[in-house]
Amino acid sequence: MTIKSLAKFLLILFSFVIKVNLVAAFQSVEAGVVGFDDDAVKIEKLIDNNGALAKSKLESYKVRFNELSLKQKIIYQNLLTDIYILQSQFDLAKQAASEGLAFTLELSGPTLLISELLYSRGFSYENMGEMALATKDYESGLELANSLHDNVLIATGLVNLGAIYYLTDRYENSLTVLNDAYNIAKQTDDEELKGSVNSELGILYAYLERDEQSKVYYQQAYEHYKNANKGIAALNSLANIGVNHLVKKEYEQAITIYETIIDESDGAAPSQIMYTTYSGLAWANLKQKTPNPEVSYQYLLLSKQYMENIEQYDIKFQYYLDEAFVLFELERFDEAVDSIATVEDILAEQMPLGLLKMQARISIINLKSKTYFKLGHYQRAHDLQDQRLSLTRVLLDKQHVQSVAEIRLALEAKQADLHKQVLENKQKLQGVALADAEDKQEQQKLYLFYIAVIALMFAWLLVKLVQGQRKLHKAASTDMLTGIANRRNLMKSGRKLLHRAKIKKSDFSVIMIDIDHFKKVNDQFGHSVGDQVLKKVVELGDEFMRKTDVFGRFGGEEFIVFLPNTSTEQAKMVAERFRKSVEEYSWNSIVDATEALFSTSISLGVASSTETHIDDKYELTALINKADSLLYQAKDQGRNKVCS
Ligand code: GH3
Ligand code: MG
Ligand code: MG
Repeated sequence: MTIKSLAKFLLILFSFVIKVNLVAAFQSVEAGVVGFDDDAVKIEKLIDNNGALAKSKLESYKVRFNELSLKQKIIYQNLLTDIYILQSQFDLAKQAASEGLAFTLELSGPTLLISELLYSRGFSYENMGEMALATKDYESGLELANSLHDNVLIATGLVNLGAIYYLTDRYENSLTVLNDAYNIAKQTDDEELKGSVNSELGILYAYLERDEQSKVYYQQAYEHYKNANKGIAALNSLANIGVNHLVKKEYEQAITIYETIIDESDGAAPSQIMYTTYSGLAWANLKQKTPNPEVSYQYLLLSKQYMENIEQYDIKFQYYLDEAFVLFELERFDEAVDSIATVEDILAEQMPLGLLKMQARISIINLKSKTYFKLGHYQRAHDLQDQRLSLTRVLLDKQHVQSVAEIRLALEAKQADLHKQVLENKQKLQGVALADAEDKQEQQKLYLFYIAVIALMFAWLLVKLVQGQRKLHKAASTDMLTGIANRRNLMKSGRKLLHRAKIKKSDFSVIMIDIDHFKKVNDQFGHSVGDQVLKKVVELGDEFMRKTDVFGRFGGEEFIVFLPNTSTEQAKMVAERFRKSVEEYSWNSIVDATEALFSTSISLGVASSTETHIDDKYELTALINKADSLLYQAKDQGRNKVCS
């Protein structure tokens, strides 16, 4: 026996011993509720196909939760977490996972269930925009999987980390861990795992705009999922290949792929996939060399049937936008006007605040103007163009655009192995342009705007594509719930603004906001009301922001506003108006009117850059800490207050 094979043998023996110990650890506790274990297996299988049924089956054990054994309680929480994740209720998923993890503390030894719970909680954080917390959970889960030598869970952890890296623009890190995952997965015979590793690599390469390579990984993912008998995941890989062709404007190939999906699915695939397929067919037929708007429209009608089963507003939004474009091409202008109106309704009611909403509004105004022009309403068409231009300016001035442009630049920089030097110069030039955008020519601004729009349109396809894979809903820069900047984006903007303020020797203020007794809102009225309160507070606050201010979610129910060119006194006034507006809002309207009187308030801390004299590098953190301690002063003084 060589040393190497001896080591391997010991490794296997070691992991076997751990597994045996685990079983023993579980067996030593009480037997729990009879029948639960069998049901748990059934529920796990049900989750993918019928989440609602899975949930009601699981909930039938709720009344007897205390009778469950420790292991059963952990499994219960694990299943509950997965169900919430599938329903996109990430805050609840996070809580369920945390409760499960609390139970694992009572175990006498480590178990793979802990890794699974950590991965699920990490995934929830990821979807709440809490990338740092997500990364931490993924890393802990991975460490445990490593110590238990479970290759499948090790690779799964690496896949999770790989995805978070590409979502936060760390493409090189992503490539490293996904390649590791790829090599580990290769040694296992877990076809599903191989499918998911290939699928993530496909997405990463799509981000890097290496579409050929991306396609190869999607194709491999497809093969592996087929071998694993994971029909739906396999179809999803095909749908990714379809998008890949659309991106490359290979419309004939796209059509072939989509027809294969229809053949293989017998129309029985989940609505998401069927919707993507028919809307892809509609798009390919509209855009191909000899466009066929008639056929395109027929496919659109088919996609509509599936769209109606899908709750997500962004899918509805996309459908009506496509419909408006197709009807325009068909010269059915009156109907196009109706579709446009629907898009505008969705925009007004359901789209979260932020960049995407504004960008969408601009493109719909453009189409509307073109439509009115065709209908002979020249004055309206002209007015709309004016409106479009001024909205474009507003969008340009928003801090957000710059970060999207930056993401775009980062993407470009990743292709640097071909023409690194050229790009570096370009990036430098654009970096200067970004820093002084407000002083630059209109021309320069429009250029940046188009960069952002291209990035967004590309992102739109990517979002669709990623959704199917890891149930993601949004690009990485905004907070999913409220639509404002997420923590990462917020801090990035803050650093840039502070840097600029220092160069220009101008004022710079920070407002930190925390909702008062928010736990009580969740406890008394449930988490969905809690979520609505969060959204409303953001909406109220947004009213007081200038276009140069950056408003973002710092975490949970804490928010930060960065205000350039603003003195402490001015920032205090903004804070006070925000406080008053939350106090005076009639909160009863968001809960059942018959419920007990419901009100809520916020506490705020205001700090300015002139008040801190600390090392450059730490200044933003110091400012935030200052605002934070003032916020706690406000809490101490009875809440619903501004302290500065
Ligand atoms: P205080 O006035 O001292 O701030 O009291 P508080 O109850 O607001 O205390 P704390 O800041 O500790 O509570 C924050 C709570 O916010 C805990 C957490 O469950 C909840 N929370 C965090 N994120 C979300 C979310 O996305 N949705 C909902 N519904 N609740 C959230
Ligand atoms: Mg708090
Ligand atoms: Mg609070």
